[in-house]
Amino acid sequence: MSRPIRAVIHTQSLQHNLQRVRDFAKDAKILAVIKADAYGHGIITAAEVLSNTQKGADAIAVASIDEAITIDDALSEKPPICLLEGIFKRDELAETIKRRFSLVVHHIEQLEFLENSSVSAPLHVWLKVNTGMNRLGINPADFENIYRRLNGCDAVASVTVLSHLACADDTQDSMTSRQLKKFMSLSVQAETKRSLANSAAIVSRPDTHFDWVRPGIMLYGSSPVQDKSAKELDLAPVMTLASELVAVRSVKKGETVGYGATWKAKNNTTIGVVACGYGDGYPRHASPGTPVLVNGERVPLVGRVSMDMITVDLNNQPNANIGDTVELWGKELSVDEIAKNANTISYEILCQVAQRVLKEVD
Ligand SMILES: *Cc1c(COP(=O)(O)O)cnc(C)c1O
Repeated sequence: MSRPIRAVIHTQSLQHNLQRVRDFAKDAKILAVIKADAYGHGIITAAEVLSNTQKGADAIAVASIDEAITIDDALSEKPPICLLEGIFKRDELAETIKRRFSLVVHHIEQLEFLENSSVSAPLHVWLKVNTGMNRLGINPADFENIYRRLNGCDAVASVTVLSHLACADDTQDSMTSRQLKKFMSLSVQAETKRSLANSAAIVSRPDTHFDWVRPGIMLYGSSPVQDKSAKELDLAPVMTLASELVAVRSVKKGETVGYGATWKAKNNTTIGVVACGYGDGYPRHASPGTPVLVNGERVPLVGRVSMDMITVDLNNQPNANIGDTVELWGKELSVDEIAKNANTISYEILCQVAQRVLKEVD
């Protein structure tokens, strides 16, 4: 018997959240982002759900050609697959063309790969423009030239123009409007499609929706904006990280618990030990008091998170016992709350769920 921890993936919630994207951005097509193993949820499961759903995603996006190949080999029916950062090396172009992946071009070198290709394949290209993120993307000043050259490539069938927003999670930040203005000032041909919105902009900025929206985190049921909860946005958690109590013990007033003896009992306390630690992806920096659900009731984390275990104060659960159910985050406890308590974002928490945690599809 392995340790009782597992990540339960709620496929219906993923379908529900995809529908929520459609509700928010009725007129846009959806490029569903499933990079980083679908934000830790399992890339094949996610690709399958997003492809098979009646009104599935219009395309799916990954960060590398390996992820694209994994999906391409696993699924016979799937929407087009987009390489969000394009190809990293020239020798990835042949496979990209063979498998008909669409690809981002964010750098002149990637344009040259296409120009120097002898293949005339109907590739769909996403031209990424830097509007202020200053990470990937060609400069607006170079746009007209590169856009024209791309359209002239034999290997290129069509071009969609995209950019990425830096501050859309903070709805008060004026950066989004400045980036939008820059994006609007690009002189694209009338038939050219455009894409700007990530999850945060999908829920908060209809003026950024354009032809394609690119949801990531909201598909997985976490809130993309600081001022609204997932519940308020009617997004459903797609992962429940579940485990069990593996020990229950009494500690006397004045005794300590865990590494560093950082937590000291103020009174006689019942401590529960949960089979879940940073080796499973639980954040080591979760602060004392971070909520954990034991038998559906909130109890506070005490002491340091260890590799395989955490400890909780069971004083409000006097009858709790070995084998009782624990939820670390999921349907009843938002991963957003755990992220706040660990001083990070849900993206990181979800992506860090370790390989050793078994995934169970629900
Ligand atoms: C990851 C990514 C997204 C999705 O962002 P979320 O904040 O998770 O919605 C969208 N577009 C690009 C280019 C990305 O890299």
